[in-house]
Amino acid sequence: MREFVYNAAPARILFGSGTRQRLPDEAERLGLERLLVLSTPDQEAVGRSIAEILGSRATGLFSGAVMHTPVAVTEEALAVIAASKADGVVAVGGGSTTGLGKAIALRTGLPQIVLPTTYAGSEMTPILGETEGGLKRTQTTAKVLPGTVIYDVDLTLSLPPSISSVSGINAIAHASEALYARDGNPVIELIAQEGIRALAAALPRIVDEPRNGPARADALYGAWLCGLCLGAVGMALHHKLCHTLGGSFDLPHAETHTIVLPHALSYNAQAAPRAMACIASALGSKDALSGLSALLERLKLKRSLAEIGMPETGISRAADLATANPYWNPRPVERDAVYELIRRAYAGEAPR
Ligand code: NAD
Repeated sequence: MREFVYNAAPARILFGSGTRQRLPDEAERLGLERLLVLSTPDQEAVGRSIAEILGSRATGLFSGAVMHTPVAVTEEALAVIAASKADGVVAVGGGSTTGLGKAIALRTGLPQIVLPTTYAGSEMTPILGETEGGLKRTQTTAKVLPGTVIYDVDLTLSLPPSISSVSGINAIAHASEALYARDGNPVIELIAQEGIRALAAALPRIVDEPRNGPARADALYGAWLCGLCLGAVGMALHHKLCHTLGGSFDLPHAETHTIVLPHALSYNAQAAPRAMACIASALGSKDALSGLSALLERLKLKRSLAEIGMPETGISRAADLATANPYWNPRPVERDAVYELIRRAYAGEAPR
């Protein structure tokens, strides 16, 4: 018999095409009348269109969200919230915008409605990572959980294929580490495998045809499931490495996950055979690493941290940081082996 503990976070999910039109009803349901819409500068137009759907319930748009949730940006948004007397926020975008909504909720207690437009999965987690003074700090608190998540497949049609691919691999990374989590359980195992399966099948179709609705729906469904995994169980070496690399060298989040994942899985493969078998089966491959490698090849993704701007001098520092205060991992986290992992990922060499 396998003993386990299963915790489920409260969540209300609307999934479909055109679901953003249900935003005013959701605001009504939550009793919200003055909502500030959040977006990145790139997604200002979609932010404006969401404010239009909200009509008189929108107090304005703050389009300054950026990656890794800098505290300085949150403070700017808080000033707008105070001036507009907003009673809630609507985040439309990827993990960067969701992160800003969570940072606001943490400080104000305001409810959030999130409309995700990438596959990062932050909307399903009680986790908030923020950066200040070049350091990224993460905390877990139910205070940052959104009230409602509206998945509207139409909002993802414009996500460029290259970002779709890395974002989808970011999601697959959540599910992969959930499969060897110390606090794993059978429910999350099922969800993780289904999430990987849905994304691995959808991403190549999206690269071939970015506006393919059914493929986009499958990918967003997979992203939701992978986000659930991230929110439900502890992550391990892979997430620790990406968190350290992203925060220390300001590397793009999803690209970093994509490059590190094969190396992290290879590091853990012998210590987590059951998880590897689940990943392999979800990828439709005889083993996890060759299945993942084939998917990355098919999606034509970058395989080296040097290519995305990591300095070579950072390898040693990253190894120190990632091993100083490690997350639990199925294989012991050894500094020399982690240094070699990062060095290979930096150089774009095959995992060992
Ligand atoms: P992102 O939100 O920065 O989006 C990447 C880029 O794509 C942005 O320029 C954005 O404007 C653009 N974009 C997003 N959706 C688009 C669409 N549909 N069409 C066209 N352009 C679109 O990137 P991300 O990878 O989604 O999120 C990364 C951030 O999220 C990081 O800060 C990371 O730490 C955080 N994150 C947090 C959690 C968590 O649980 N706390 C989980 C995953 C990611």
